[in-house]
Amino acid sequence: MKFATKAIRVGQEPDPTTGAVNVPIYQTANFVFRDVGQPNAFEYSRSGNPTRSAYEKCLAALEEGKYGLAFGSGMAAVDAALSVLRPGDHIVSSENIYGGTFRLFEGVAAGRGIRLTYVDGTQPEAFEAAIEENTKMIWIETPANPLLQLVDVRAVAAIAKRYHILLAADNTFSSPFFQRPLTQGVDVVIHSTTKYISGHSDVIGGAVVTGDAALHERLAYYQNTVGAVPGPFDCWLSLRGLKTLAVRMKKHEENALAVARWLAAQTTVEGVIYPGLPSHPQYALAKDQMDGFGAIITFRLPGGLKAVERFAKGLDIFLFAESLGGVESLVCHPWTMSHGVMSPDDKQKIGITEGTIRLSIGIEDVDDLIADLEKALKQTAL
Ligand SMILES: *Cc1c(COP(=O)(O)O)cnc(C)c1O
Repeated sequence: MKFATKAIRVGQEPDPTTGAVNVPIYQTANFVFRDVGQPNAFEYSRSGNPTRSAYEKCLAALEEGKYGLAFGSGMAAVDAALSVLRPGDHIVSSENIYGGTFRLFEGVAAGRGIRLTYVDGTQPEAFEAAIEENTKMIWIETPANPLLQLVDVRAVAAIAKRYHILLAADNTFSSPFFQRPLTQGVDVVIHSTTKYISGHSDVIGGAVVTGDAALHERLAYYQNTVGAVPGPFDCWLSLRGLKTLAVRMKKHEENALAVARWLAAQTTVEGVIYPGLPSHPQYALAKDQMDGFGAIITFRLPGGLKAVERFAKGLDIFLFAESLGGVESLVCHPWTMSHGVMSPDDKQKIGITEGTIRLSIGIEDVDDLIADLEKALKQTAL
């Protein structure tokens, strides 16, 4: 089965009792036992729920993994991936990662005795150079938030294999439609399903997918023990999102390519970054390891904070909001929003300036999107 078919059929057999075409929302906390010591397929919805299980099976199939686990948020999924580490263990992470992941590393994991080294993710050899005796995990996010640097997944996977280190990849920005890191040597994939997978900005959710049975067992143990599980309705919404992931991603990308090309031709903005533009320094790598370029575009307004304020006020269709990956186009100011938790020095070090703007391109009519940007940029330049 190919991607778009799997998205609609895997884990989603018609309901055996009623014939319902859609997996029902099993809004129940518990399930009766048939007899003493004889549970039905499910016992208690923290440990497992049929709606969640259908969604987890579909997710795993789309990532070409064997096992999927759904969580109550992307951050709960990141936390679960870290649960395999012990005090004294060391992570080598690329430095361009989601701000909330950085906060979890520094604010929570470090307090539990886990040590971190951050490296330039665009340089595979930088990961190798940072490996220590106790390095147990390499963490990558590609393309990275918000400057869209790529990590060469196969090159870093080869290093991880050589040193027997677990390789974790946050695949939120591409979704499994454009990139399947498990097929390129990654051990565990993490998602904020809040973004493209749910796709409609109406659910907070996360997921962890792996092909390794032993690793899955440890993660499932943690999921059941800590209990950061999504409710049945959120799982149903996310599964519904998966069904249209293929068509949405194609449209997201088509729009993003048109907007990126248009922006690159404007003299009022600087440094347009989009992996699908040949000017992206890793354009060749993007073509090689991804099936598409995604729909996040980053650029700089030369006028700094003042220009950002004018630009945001000038937009009507783009919404000024956190998050990304929904059907509606969004504009985000990483300096004060997604990366607001980082110090100005840390932000500048990874290339985020006061004038940096990140667009999440939705699936509206692209002519309307470009007209909206044109109007806002005119007002910015006044
Ligand atoms: C949003 C996001 C997260 C966190 O997910 P939540 O669902 O907000 O908890 C993690 N990684 C990336 C790349 C994200 O964009």
